[in-house]
Amino acid sequence: MADFSILALGGDGIGPEVLAAALDVTEVASGLAGIRLDIAEDLLHGAAWEAHGTFCREETVTAARAADAVLVGAVGGPEWDDIRVPGGPEMQDGLMRLRKALDAYAGLRPARAWPELGRFTPFRAGLAERADIMVLREMTGGVMFASPRGQERRAGRRYGFDTAAYDEGEIARIAHSGFRLARTRKGRLVSADKANVMESYKLWRAVVTEVAAEYPDVTLTHMYADNCAFQMMRTPLSFDVVMGCNLIGDFLSDLAAVVSGSLGLLPSACLCGSPGGRVKGIYEPVHGSAPDIAGQGIANPAGTILSVAMMFEHSLALPAVARRIEAAVERALVSGHLTPDLGGTATTRGFADAVTAELRA
Ligand code: ATP
Ligand code: MG
Repeated sequence: MADFSILALGGDGIGPEVLAAALDVTEVASGLAGIRLDIAEDLLHGAAWEAHGTFCREETVTAARAADAVLVGAVGGPEWDDIRVPGGPEMQDGLMRLRKALDAYAGLRPARAWPELGRFTPFRAGLAERADIMVLREMTGGVMFASPRGQERRAGRRYGFDTAAYDEGEIARIAHSGFRLARTRKGRLVSADKANVMESYKLWRAVVTEVAAEYPDVTLTHMYADNCAFQMMRTPLSFDVVMGCNLIGDFLSDLAAVVSGSLGLLPSACLCGSPGGRVKGIYEPVHGSAPDIAGQGIANPAGTILSVAMMFEHSLALPAVARRIEAAVERALVSGHLTPDLGGTATTRGFADAVTAELRA
């Protein structure tokens, strides 16, 4: 009997390549930890569309519900962008469908600086070398999903509209995630909103403040999102966990990524509950399917490997294994195993081999 079951979805473009590399690391890491994993593979998004005429099969949703964790390579590509199938926004995107079906509402995007890669960032020496920012994004509500939404004609002109809305339960659960996450880190939480100009953010701020009473050990700061963006770039070292709604979290997580220097290095997790115990989650690199380099074996798999580390931490509750994987990735980078996006000549496989060698060392 396996200790944990994992659903692996390669997706599109470089997705299957970076996922295969990350699965090699997963196998070695689980062997070292003395646990057995049952890993099932399936198709998602474009690959699923080509094979089954849907971006995410019901069977895939069922398998994801049964698994302890879901690993994803990358999804999407221009060939599927304009396909419209009946249903809400989540039906147009396999990954979004999965997140919605699993209620994976807590999006974690860590961005840390790698001192040896500082030349890839725009920061002045000393300003961001040890930056380590975790952006927590609400993933299943807000303006991306709330209704009414649509396009129509009003007074003879085209009119498009969306609704920014949250109920207090949605805000409270992401707030709990933020405080619990801050507890496992430096104990500082920034909540970014626009409570100065929007009602849904006034409620956001009020509910976050109420939840804060349960976490006296965490320092909460409310910031307006625009100022938060400015401060994150001005003094990146002063930030620990930054939390925002679906829209603000989207912007701030890409912004935080600047401290790391490369898109290919960034992992992410979408958890179906609060961090701190063992929680089901969907793990994937931040980058897209990179059709321009797909099939060449040169994609950087570090973001996917670091997503595996997040899986060990949050879904398998083995943080020590997560730290070992992160350290192995760091040593592989420091010893010069750099893929072309980082100015080197390492291949996807070559980098994964360097990481597994470091893990075993
Ligand atoms: P999406 O809309 O899914 O975010 P995108 O087209 O905006 O996709 P990516 O697919 O992430 O963005 O690609 C952006 C650029 O970064 C491309 O030039 C791509 O080759 C490069 N890139 C992305 N991921 C990697 C990676 N893992 N290794 C090397 N280069 C990458
Ligand atoms: Mg993109």
